[in-house]
Amino acid sequence: NKIDHIGIAVTDLDEAIETYKKLGMELLGTETVDDQKVRTAFFKVGESCFELLEATDPSSPIARYIEKNAGRGGIQHIAMQVDDVDAEIERLKGEGFLMIDETARDGAHGNRIAFLHPKSTHGTLLEVCARKK
Ligand code: ZN
Repeated sequence: NKIDHIGIAVTDLDEAIETYKKLGMELLGTETVDDQKVRTAFFKVGESCFELLEATDPSSPIARYIEKNAGRGGIQHIAMQVDDVDAEIERLKGEGFLMIDETARDGAHGNRIAFLHPKSTHGTLLEVCARKK
């Protein structure tokens, strides 16, 4: 439907929140997602969002991203909003995409999400997400 959000890895979420506020963006809220071992902050950018992500554990995908990125944050994933994540996962699998999540799981802010493997998307980590019904 649209770019739902852009996931940005940061090393210090509180500092990053102050920076993004100064950029003039509206903070929608923060949330810890234990499943992904991250603390997140959502900023509204028109119809889409920036999702700032800080690792809460060294085994978090965000910690691994920062490690690979020479200790710096950066754009980690892009999320596309769909109506039905489960149907989309099946469609993508049918097209031969490799999924990190074979079934949808809970993301931040009541979203249902699934990640595609960067191996099958030319190196970019893509997420499909839908508002929880
Ligand atoms: Zn995301």
